Amino acid sequence: MNLLLKAPKGHELSEYIFSLPFNLYGKAKKVDGVLAVTKSELLVYIDGEIKDRYSFDEYEEYACEQLIGCSMMVGKIADRSQKCICAFTQDSFIMFAELCKILNHYLTTGVLVEESDIDEPKCPKCGLPLDSFTECPYCASKVKTFSKIFARLKPYKGVFAIAIICTVLGELLNVVSPMINRLLIDNYVWLPEGSEPVIWNAQAWLGFGILCASMFVIIIINTVLNWANMKASFYVSLNLGQDLRQDVFNKTLDLSMNSISKKTAGDLINRVSNDANKLQSFMTDNGKNAIVRIFSLVIVAIIMFTMDWRLSLLAILPIPIVVVIIKRAYNTIQMYYGRSWRFSNAHSKLLHDALDGIRVVKTCGTEELEIEKYRTASENAAKAASKAEVVWYLIWPACDFLLTIGNYFVLYFGSMMILSRLPMFGTFTLGQLTQFTSYVAMLYTPLRWLMQLPRQLADVSVSASKVFEILEENTDVRDAKDCIDLDIKGDISFDHVYFGYKVYNPVLKDVTVNLEKGKMYGIVGHSGAGKSTMINLVLRLYDVTQGAVKIDGVDIRKISQESLRSQVGVVLQETYLFEGTVLENITYANPKATFEEVVQAAKIAHCHEFITKLPDGYNTRVGNKGHTLSGGERQRVAIARAILHNPKIIILDEATASLDTETERQIQEGLAELCRGRTTIAIAHRLSTLSNADQLIVLDKGRMVETGSHEELMRKKGVYYELVMAQRKTTKMREANIDAVEEHKPNPAMA
Ligand code: ADP
Repeated sequence: MNLLLKAPKGHELSEYIFSLPFNLYGKAKKVDGVLAVTKSELLVYIDGEIKDRYSFDEYEEYACEQLIGCSMMVGKIADRSQKCICAFTQDSFIMFAELCKILNHYLTTGVLVEESDIDEPKCPKCGLPLDSFTECPYCASKVKTFSKIFARLKPYKGVFAIAIICTVLGELLNVVSPMINRLLIDNYVWLPEGSEPVIWNAQAWLGFGILCASMFVIIIINTVLNWANMKASFYVSLNLGQDLRQDVFNKTLDLSMNSISKKTAGDLINRVSNDANKLQSFMTDNGKNAIVRIFSLVIVAIIMFTMDWRLSLLAILPIPIVVVIIKRAYNTIQMYYGRSWRFSNAHSKLLHDALDGIRVVKTCGTEELEIEKYRTASENAAKAASKAEVVWYLIWPACDFLLTIGNYFVLYFGSMMILSRLPMFGTFTLGQLTQFTSYVAMLYTPLRWLMQLPRQLADVSVSASKVFEILEENTDVRDAKDCIDLDIKGDISFDHVYFGYKVYNPVLKDVTVNLEKGKMYGIVGHSGAGKSTMINLVLRLYDVTQGAVKIDGVDIRKISQESLRSQVGVVLQETYLFEGTVLENITYANPKATFEEVVQAAKIAHCHEFITKLPDGYNTRVGNKGHTLSGGERQRVAIARAILHNPKIIILDEATASLDTETERQIQEGLAELCRGRTTIAIAHRLSTLSNADQLIVLDKGRMVETGSHEELMRKKGVYYELVMAQRKTTKMREANIDAVEEHKPNPAMA
């Protein structure tokens, strides 16, 4: 959320950390106000004038309160008295509520979370929203970005060098061709004035033949060089693309859940495939061309200047004007390509979302809506890309024409020199002018390429930023240098744990609890209390903000993630089965397991029976996400997978919530087998399924408020008791409703 929205009149946004507009003050008087936050103060501006200022610690808590038709931000002090800081219409409530959280976080920790720590930050240089970029693609150093791209050529430098040598040799041969051409013209076709006519004797024919043969040899060598160049380039291109895609994929799997949850699957797929492909073709085509074109530009320029420096200057006269025009157009084009990238990313996201949620789309009958959304996103992407192309194609013909003006100068002054009408320029033969104009054409080829380059750079630099953003992202959950592989016994402890998905918004507060190995623990609490979050911390999907989670007394940040996760098994409510066979899905966590072990695990999980009834038994393909199996069957396959994993710690996150009572009963047996002798942490909405837990941990708004067995907690009549009572009441009401419906059903016998 962007909390740096509007600067007070006469001030710049950059002066503040946060700055939000408000429109009511005092007794609901309409005003043009801004609440600005500096490193130590809150400044209330009205019409650009400071009305009030408060140092952060003037209050003990900040809060937003909803009134009728408007809201206000208040500062509270110990005796519960409070002061209205500013008021606003409801549409600004969320922003001010977010600001209050940040200020409260400052009051408890002394750390002011800056704008960049919040979602949707802006580029400090150009002020444009960064969207999902960490560094603004428009302001990031292009040299740095492209040197990073070229550094990836290192493993293939030998083959890449062959491609370059072949192209350079080809270019050199191209430079020789006009020389032979000149000799042919000046000696055999259009002799310079005053020279003897050619006598076509054997010697003349021999000379003529040698020159023609040389041309032919040059063409043959060029073809061979071209072939070698293509082969080498193709090799580098394929490998480079593969490396890049693999690296982006590896890094994506390595990212922390915190980072992954900020990106969508469509966004990540886009980076692994589209962006990596764009870089691959750019590096192999343009990377090599950049070296070769610049080389041929220098060689041709040297030859031209040695032939005639004045004509050469005339040939390059328009270049500075063209460079200035292109430089100006570059930023606009890059902005459109950036926009196009965002829209095309949005349409990938839409595609992924719609396909992922195809059942919801179909059952809600919203196909038309999704098609319309997709069409709009596609159109927007195409429009932005075509705007970039339009800008380019508007300026490019003009630049190209400007460039060729140099050629007209050369032709005019060159012809004058042939006719000896420019004594101060000296004289030229027709052969020399033909050779010179060939070089001018050769000079314009790399120049045209160089001038086209900004357009391609504009496009590819956006993709490069996205790819390197992933490759260079610092994984916030990573193995410590001195991490160990622990043979886990199963004791788990939470030691004064604080955690928040946003640092200033704690979800778990001061949770301290010890779980003994081999016992079963249930975590209960209202929805949003932090139950799944506790589990996420045991799996180290996130790192705690404060305190520690320990296994067998070792801080899990000191245990290698591989060792930790290979000894913790998880069964979730939403079981994910991969496309493949039942066997592949069961052996997913333990690919080395023998078939006998798989069958044994399947029997314990009560799924062997239904698997053997499937058309191909264990080799039956489960389809996309296992859609050919029922929910209960999928869940049992997941339990078999967890049993085969043979973990020391088991986590059951609403593992039976979506099943009917009969299926749940069967699965409970499988789960009981799975949990025997292992530390088990279970979350279940139906509290009755946790009544056999050794101990229950009760969470309320992120704090652990009670622990004990079901009986102890029921006797205590605290939060757990209330939860159980509320659930019993709902169940009774549901049963009463069902009975009522049954009673009113017409009797078929009487009908
Ligand atoms: P429970 O499992 O008790 O229902 P959770 O642990 O899932 O609750 O969530 C606790 C709080 O954390 C909720 O307010 C939820 O909105 C928030 N939360 C959960 N996951 C994330 C996330 N990935 N990013 C931001 N907030 C989250």
